[in-house]
Amino acid sequence: MRPLLLLTNDDGIFAPMLGALADRLAALGDVLVVAPERPRSAASHAITLHKPVRAKEIAPGRWSLSGTPADCVYVGVLRLAPRPPAIVVSGPNDGYNLGSDVYYSGTVAGAVEGALRGLRGVALSVAPRAKDVATALDLATAIVAAALTQLPPGEVVNVNLPGAGETRYAWTTLGKRRYQDDVTERHDPWGRPYYWIGGGSIGHDDVPGSDCNAIADGVA
Ligand code: MN
Repeated sequence: MRPLLLLTNDDGIFAPMLGALADRLAALGDVLVVAPERPRSAASHAITLHKPVRAKEIAPGRWSLSGTPADCVYVGVLRLAPRPPAIVVSGPNDGYNLGSDVYYSGTVAGAVEGALRGLRGVALSVAPRAKDVATALDLATAIVAAALTQLPPGEVVNVNLPGAGETRYAWTTLGKRRYQDDVTERHDPWGRPYYWIGGGSIGHDDVPGSDCNAIADGVA
């Protein structure tokens, strides 16, 4: 029987690269897509315990869920999948997940949820605003194919893919990415303050062998 691949994406069910990856992965097995109904980037590993989650099959084998990426894998594996998935693929995310990003990432959490359930997990992220998505998705498909046979169940790989046609790769450790720590205060029409949190990436620490260094060296 063909392997079942469970695919999620923290950028939501309508994420531009999700459908294209699903189409490619169909060459490897049956693909079940379960993704949040709206973008849930930086949802980390949250699961929805205090209200129901609703699932809607928007096309055959493509489900939109009113929850987080971890919810999608949880419900996908235990309820929506017709048989146990051979692998959980999460992504491709629009933008790298490097170093400490993995603690915030819904993309990584989706793959980890699969691994916690004894499945293989592959998290896929692509360079932000990638120009050559096709090469990145071809590489992603080759990596998922390899993971199906070579990644032990219960383990996760976090993959950052190039956006400019590169096909080199490096095995890395997690580095230390730096962000501009930022809390912007604004005021609503009643004069009450509210806040936007989070700032842009401002580089990384120099950690030889790390993912951040590899990206900076042009591997992806
Ligand atoms: Mn995202």
